[in-house]
Amino acid sequence: MDFKLTEKEQALIEEIRKFAEEELPSGWVGASLADGGESRDWEFEMSMSRKLAQKGWLVMSWPKEYGGCDASLLEQTVYEMEVAYWGIPGAWMGVSGVQWVGPCLMLFGTEEQRRKHLPLIASGEPDGVWCTGYSEPNAGSDLANLQTRAVRDGDEYIINGQKVWTSAAHRARWCWLMARTDLNALKKHRGLSLFIVDMKSPGVTVRPLLNYYGRHHFNEVFFDNVRIPASNLVGEENRGWYQLMQALAFERRSTAPITYGGFKRLLEKLVEYVKDTRYEGSPLSENPVIRHKLADAAVAVETLKLFAFQLTWRLSQGTIPTYESSRNKVMSDEVMKRVAISGAEILGAYSQVDPDSKWAKLNGVVQGLYLGFPGQAIAAGTTEVEKSIIGQFGLGLPKSY
Ligand SMILES: Cc1cc2nc3c(=O)[nH]c(=O)nc-3n(C[C@H](O)[C@H](O)[C@H](O)COP(=O)(O)OP(=O)(O)OC[C@H]3O[C@@H](n4cnc5c(N)ncnc54)[C@H](O)[C@@H]3O)c2cc1C
Repeated sequence: MDFKLTEKEQALIEEIRKFAEEELPSGWVGASLADGGESRDWEFEMSMSRKLAQKGWLVMSWPKEYGGCDASLLEQTVYEMEVAYWGIPGAWMGVSGVQWVGPCLMLFGTEEQRRKHLPLIASGEPDGVWCTGYSEPNAGSDLANLQTRAVRDGDEYIINGQKVWTSAAHRARWCWLMARTDLNALKKHRGLSLFIVDMKSPGVTVRPLLNYYGRHHFNEVFFDNVRIPASNLVGEENRGWYQLMQALAFERRSTAPITYGGFKRLLEKLVEYVKDTRYEGSPLSENPVIRHKLADAAVAVETLKLFAFQLTWRLSQGTIPTYESSRNKVMSDEVMKRVAISGAEILGAYSQVDPDSKWAKLNGVVQGLYLGFPGQAIAAGTTEVEKSIIGQFGLGLPKSY
């Protein structure tokens, strides 16, 4: 099989490399997931997202009329890998809008919703930043159990309820909200609908939740009689579950190229490090245990690349993948785990100091990854849930409960 990229794709890689060299501080490693998703410098991140948007890269595979460049999905995948490789911040602007809200609006949204929101997301401006309101205190893996209510009142809906673990809600202008619209549906997943909520609406309260290593990545969001226009319903009322499946597939798809790019770079940095660092008189690179760990991580990273391209190819053929997004998510989680653990073992005590410390190595990214990888394996569906999907749709096993 020939995986050679086209001249156009090669040129794109070259352009992104130049962009990274010109725009990023020297010595920047910035693995995209190193800080558990919380940008330490939001202004810098937004300034970069604006620049990526001006280049036409931010949503390159979207149609031109909505702010994209009509690029192929393969080009977009190459872009995602390369941007993650250089750790360019701002490429996903809180992730939700670029990766799943926009694509879902193109599939299920009204023309009015598309015309309003797609160009905003494509602009890379703060008004195009979204958060995703699915999880609740009693609804995570069992998402169909969610209790937030949306009740129709004339040409509005009134929203009441609570969301939790809402990434970037403190940054977002819009929320992609899943709420219950029918209490009497025969099956609980049939009474759900998707909505667009303006985070500036009266009655929306965002409370920070610090993660277990003290960073402000996610939030609790409370909706207290929040009124939204009925035209903010996305797709059909009570059909939200089916749209959600598509949104999750988009979300899980995006993890493989991003993880591949970021972790390939980190692996390369670790390889340089073991070549340059001596321990008890010998370079670390001669230690067989370290060599095997790096080889092991390299196998996982390259496997992920193949998965990312295979899924992109399936999508570009017009098929709707069933289990492949979950497979890629599981493999992404595995890559993060292997590289983070190997990185921490190789750097030893240096991996435990804060990124700002003078003792930090590789810009301190290994510390963030080591602390952050378990959370990434929970976000967008836990590894166990993803494996159940692979079992059911990939292997034809009976549905699990
Ligand atoms: C970094 C991060 C970012 C997040 N961002 C968002 C966000 O922006 N918006 C949002 O809505 N949510 C977000 N979440 C929440 C995330 O989607 C949920 O945490 C996740 O779906 C798991 O739900 P839970 O926490 O309720 O755990 P539970 O569902 O209670 O699961 C607990 C454990 O039980 C296992 N388990 C549960 N059911 C099964 C089953 N049927 N079979 C086998 N094992 C099972 C799980 O795998 C897990 O190990 C985020 C989470 C993290 C960690």
